[in-house]
Amino acid sequence: MEKDWDYIARLEKAIKQKYGDDAVQNPSKFWDEEKEKEYIEQLKELAKKQIDVDDRSEKIEIDGFLVNKKLVNKDNKNNCPICGTKVKLRDERIYLLRWQCCKTCYAQYVEFNWERWTEGWRPENVEKNT
Ligand SMILES: [Zn+2]
Repeated sequence: MEKDWDYIARLEKAIKQKYGDDAVQNPSKFWDEEKEKEYIEQLKELAKKQIDVDDRSEKIEIDGFLVNKKLVNKDNKNNCPICGTKVKLRDERIYLLRWQCCKTCYAQYVEFNWERWTEGWRPENVEKNT
């Protein structure tokens, strides 16, 4: 799992070089719809470029977005690890990849606390919608 997030981190580093420090360091400011689109496009492009030169771990495609297969393991592939909600929409899966939670949890726990979230804080005693 750690290795996979390294991969995402490398993609983010490349994005940071393109958009500047703000893009990654202050996602609450960055994370509007327009920027989100750009972000996703950049990730896609970078992922495509990187697939040939990156490690040998298997990649799968989610709506044109290549990710390490291990990142999307079968057990929790489409479930928010915070609230357990099944994520179906493409947009929401991007949240899952980027923030490791669904869009609802992002709005509730991450949007105004992204710094704490990035440091590894997670809400406790969240009722699972399974
Ligand atoms: Zn959730």
